[in-house]
Amino acid sequence: MDQFLVDEGELVVGGERLSLLAARVGQTPFYAYDRGLLQARVAALRAALPKGIKLHYAMKANPMPAVVGFMARLVDGVDVASAGELKVALDAGADPAEISFAGPGKRDAELRQAVASRVLVNLESPREIAVLQAASAELGLPARVAVRVNPDFELKGSGMKMGGGPKQFGVDVEQMPALLADIGRAGLAFEGFHLFAGSQNLRADSICEAQQKSFDLAVRLAQDAPGPVKFLNLGGGFGIPYFPGDQRLDLAPIGANLQQLLERAKAELPHAELVIELGRYLVAEAGVYVTRVVDRKISRGQVYLVTDGGLNHHLSASGNFGQVVRKNYPVTIGNRQGGGETEQASVVGPLCTPLDLLADRMQLPVAGVGDLAVVFQSGAYGASASPQAFLGHAPCTEVLV
Ligand SMILES: *Cc1c(COP(=O)(O)O)cnc(C)c1O
Repeated sequence: MDQFLVDEGELVVGGERLSLLAARVGQTPFYAYDRGLLQARVAALRAALPKGIKLHYAMKANPMPAVVGFMARLVDGVDVASAGELKVALDAGADPAEISFAGPGKRDAELRQAVASRVLVNLESPREIAVLQAASAELGLPARVAVRVNPDFELKGSGMKMGGGPKQFGVDVEQMPALLADIGRAGLAFEGFHLFAGSQNLRADSICEAQQKSFDLAVRLAQDAPGPVKFLNLGGGFGIPYFPGDQRLDLAPIGANLQQLLERAKAELPHAELVIELGRYLVAEAGVYVTRVVDRKISRGQVYLVTDGGLNHHLSASGNFGQVVRKNYPVTIGNRQGGGETEQASVVGPLCTPLDLLADRMQLPVAGVGDLAVVFQSGAYGASASPQAFLGHAPCTEVLV
């Protein structure tokens, strides 16, 4: 993957050759996230999008505290999905005024913490109104709310659909007028709307269409709102290329589309700031997962590189985190980049399950015991999205370099 340079036959991550980075970390397996690449990604995105668009980091993609702290200084806000993430974001120094809290099934205690923290709650159920009202009265603080809307459309071509049809997320459009009236009666501090239609989308036209429809819907809903719309979160869903043939998302049409929506907002939602929230797109390509080969076996002619890490640390690379048909993430041997011989090999972990597969019959540099297998595109939905206790192996570690 060309975002990482090669020096003396080794990948360079965070300015360090991989074998030296592994020595510094002191153990394998580990995830490493490259600060320079994180910064470059945000800069490139800012350059492609109009200035008036606010950029939020959806931290569930990578909640490592050091990463959240680094990202919080680069973006305009942080989106959290639990009280645990809220704590990390606040500890990291994110401005509570620019934190929003979404997610189904927020516990009463979490909602109370949100009010006490003065963050914006993306309300996803009528149940949350009374809880927020009580917390607000008890604490003497306004309960800031936006409503997450389950729209009557889907994000086409999305890896994971999170809006449209029956969903556990958000409030159905049909229920919105009654809900907005209830919010007004409860005296909550209404700020706007949140729409999130789906994830991992590589089609700019679909993303633009979803943004347009989200904006139109917000304009319609604003008529029933208990106050002016100050906040409109149009969602995200920007995907990254994982597999051969994946085309990189074209930002130009998205930038143009958002510019048009900013123009419309001046007339149609004059108090609203427009926000997009991205997780994976901001962090995934800046991260690698590094695991050491502990055995090299040949079974009926097929080479297996058995490593000290696998699906217990990197469920998504094993294909078990929402992939319908398993495909290989980009994998290489990070300390064998000198252009030597290659062979077909499978990279597997040490778990007693055939699902523990990081690379299925890929063409890789010839490797043996002690070499470092690297999984690219691993900065999102890695360590925190994996069953680390499974089979009792040690957890992996993470570094920001
Ligand atoms: C998961 C999620 C995101 C981030 O999705 P990515 O695909 O990582 O960009 C953003 N917003 C909400 C509401 C989410 O649930």
